[in-house]
Amino acid sequence: MVETLSSKEGSSSAAGNLKAVFPGKYIQGEGALGELPDLIGLLGRRGLILASPSAKREYLSGYASQGLPLEEFRGECCEGEIRRLTEIVRREGADVLVGMGGGKAVDTAKIAADRAGIPVLIVPTIASTDAPCSGCAVVYTEEGVFESVSYQRMNPSVVLVDTKVIAAAPTRFLVAGMGDALATWFEARSCERTQSANECGGYTTLTGLTLARLCYDTLLRYGPDAKRASQRKIVTPALSHIVEANILLSGIGFESSGLGAAHSVHNGLTALEETHPYYHGEKVAFGLLTGLHLTDAPPEETAGVYGFCEEIGLPTTLSGIGVDAADRERLGRAAWKACAPQEGIHHEAGAMTPEKVLNAMIAADALGSDRKARQGT
Ligand SMILES: [Zn+2]
Repeated sequence: MVETLSSKEGSSSAAGNLKAVFPGKYIQGEGALGELPDLIGLLGRRGLILASPSAKREYLSGYASQGLPLEEFRGECCEGEIRRLTEIVRREGADVLVGMGGGKAVDTAKIAADRAGIPVLIVPTIASTDAPCSGCAVVYTEEGVFESVSYQRMNPSVVLVDTKVIAAAPTRFLVAGMGDALATWFEARSCERTQSANECGGYTTLTGLTLARLCYDTLLRYGPDAKRASQRKIVTPALSHIVEANILLSGIGFESSGLGAAHSVHNGLTALEETHPYYHGEKVAFGLLTGLHLTDAPPEETAGVYGFCEEIGLPTTLSGIGVDAADRERLGRAAWKACAPQEGIHHEAGAMTPEKVLNAMIAADALGSDRKARQGT
């Protein structure tokens, strides 16, 4: 996500309450999509599906003939599209909304359902971020420029993940999802250490922290095998564990335990146009490496994270996310944005300044480059 809730809910979190949030149901399996009609029936009488064009074409061809209204997502989670969908929900008299596709289709469905006051059922078709289980959504302008984070009243009623669908998607999505999930434990740990607010307006629980840790351990254990399964488009236990880590464990982990330097550096990097072709999780991975240098993490721990990134193909250098490491002026701009007052980077111990962040970015890139040179890659 791109900003933190701490500034908004400062007064309630100041009360010191622990908070954790979850989706109502999480269902994952090969062919799990077959449960969709029953789940719609469980939540309401009249469902409406918002699907990305590819999800509609590939997975929902039988639904239109069953008389279930199917709306095609127009590509951007922006105010116009949210309003259009909310209007269709009202016109159709829908009492359950399904959001199926990538992050933007899913986020649009979350907001429209919240506005219409009906439950939302999320069907992610890729595992590239930890957004599906969360109650927040990112809103952009019509042109795709970040505008705000929208917090819904409740998390999705159901998150339905068909591992066969995820396995059929390009591997880069799954790897990027591992990059997003890789940061979860470190950011959760920082929030716990400094007693900083999480993303649902409270403080972390043992539950949130333990799931964040399990997320990290699962990635290290099964990540490389899951990548190989994805490359061959097969569902294996390893792939299944990584889908759970990317979507469920990381989703609960970030929302219920909080964000830190990794996501703030990601947000800073989005100020540089050259990073735009790279996925959220790829930039978060570099943000995590920066965060490890910034917070003086033990070198052996840092080495382990670099090793994992190298093994599964996440970027470990600035050039790996399109940035010229020699251009300090541009890097400084990203570092400055990463330190904006509302950023989770201030959940790290000590005072965070653009200069420290700039130095950590350069240090992270230097280690990544040296390791590459040594490995001859
Ligand atoms: Zn993220």
